[in-house]
Amino acid sequence: MTEAPDQLTTMVTGVVFKSLANVGQYALPLIFSGAALASFFGRRKRASRARNVADNASGSALTGMIENARGVRPVATPAAMAQPAAAPVAASGESPTCPKCGNAMARRTARQGARAGASFWGCSAFPKCRGVRAID
Ligand SMILES: [Zn+2]
Repeated sequence: MTEAPDQLTTMVTGVVFKSLANVGQYALPLIFSGAALASFFGRRKRASRARNVADNASGSALTGMIENARGVRPVATPAAMAQPAAAPVAASGESPTCPKCGNAMARRTARQGARAGASFWGCSAFPKCRGVRAID
């Protein structure tokens, strides 16, 4: 029975290997998934840090855009709105002259106020000159 111990050893070793293999079957995926989780969380942390940086960057970009818009708006919008829409040309040489600056006057229609819808003579130099004449 001298071989018994060897056999036992072999058996034990085999069992140990087998059980190690069995454990490994479950342990390795656990280890891998653990590593995956760890790297996942690590990546998330890094990603959120990157997102913070991106937020800061886009925030300053947004601020810049708002500042740009603020700088542009006063120039663009009021000028476009103040521009009188296609001034109707007065017929022939009948147009009177502006009582304020002497320029020719153009027939216009009041858009608002008590005389809305009524025609009047408006200075052709509008909006620089706001001279008006009533049409008789
Ligand atoms: Zn005028």
